[in-house]
Amino acid sequence: MPDIIHLLPDSIASQIAAGEVIQRPASVVKELMENSIDAKSTEITLVVKQAGKVLIQVSDNGIGMTDTDARMCFERHATSKISSANDIFKIKTKGFRGEALASVAAIAHVELITKKEENDTGTKILINGSKFEKQEPIQSNTGTKISVKNLFFNVPARRKFLKSDAVELKHINDEFIRLALAHKDIAFSYYHNGKLLYQLAPSNLKQRIVSLFGRAYDSKLLAVDEQMEIVKIKGYIGKIEAARKTRGNQYIFVNNRFIKSHYLNHAINTSYSEYIGEGSHPIFFLFLEIDPDKIDVNIHPTKEEIKFEDERLIYNFVRVTVKHVLGKFTHSPVLDRGA
Ligand code: ADP
Ligand code: MG
Repeated sequence: MPDIIHLLPDSIASQIAAGEVIQRPASVVKELMENSIDAKSTEITLVVKQAGKVLIQVSDNGIGMTDTDARMCFERHATSKISSANDIFKIKTKGFRGEALASVAAIAHVELITKKEENDTGTKILINGSKFEKQEPIQSNTGTKISVKNLFFNVPARRKFLKSDAVELKHINDEFIRLALAHKDIAFSYYHNGKLLYQLAPSNLKQRIVSLFGRAYDSKLLAVDEQMEIVKIKGYIGKIEAARKTRGNQYIFVNNRFIKSHYLNHAINTSYSEYIGEGSHPIFFLFLEIDPDKIDVNIHPTKEEIKFEDERLIYNFVRVTVKHVLGKFTHSPVLDRGA
């Protein structure tokens, strides 16, 4: 029998790996914006054309990169954010795998322009489907601008499975809103097909919520601010009458990272259940802060799921806190019947 195992060529291996990190235009938006946030930017602009199928561009006024780092950032596992496996347990930045830019570059036409404050000129790099095209000096502002064109141009099967512009744009909006909520100190602008969709000035959380969701939210929110030894919770929950027929505008962040947690959603819904009916869903914007070594964010490539060391404790803390805030607001004493 002949041997049948062979190594995949690099180009194919990296397209497959890219598919895990970059599933759709919204994944590119998330990765690029997170990099801009990690780079300490105070202003970030997102420009999208045709729901990201034609162009996704993120520019920032962050720390920029040196000429060499600009080349390096497209290598797989190239990161400035961790240096040892242990660092994973104390992650403060959004990124850390050093995979995103390598993945994006494997499946799109990418232009990077970046400049550090201390340098007079910046550098520009073109890279297409992992193939380095050129690097040259360029005049630019301090910061970084990355343009991602023709996503999945070389992976027709994936390109074909992208949804309608409306659906892909909805995913991009979701990512934008999550990051804008978590980073209220940063100014964001977002254009789609030349139209300004959002322009957000640095503000407090309530103002940011109102700028994103409309004036009506101003009177719909109840402040949350509680803490115990290992965990703090802050943010807003919606008043009873602000509950909606559709589940949406339910946001939980842990250490400023948006997460999906059926578990914590359940804790919150349980607390609302005596005030609102089955078919109604509360709105909430809750930020938990917990010692990074009490959680593991490394269980999912998109980092949207996390594991708590003591799930039960967090569940009860969230449930009791929400119940307490609702109870205070409705003025009727609420008896805690336990979980
Ligand atoms: P990660 O974010 O996990 O480190 P990425 O592939 O997203 O991996 O980025 C690789 C590296 O490129 C980052 O660690 C950072 O040093 C640099 N980088 C990427 N985007 C920016 C940016 N907007 N500004 C400054 N540096 C950046
Ligand atoms: Mg990153």
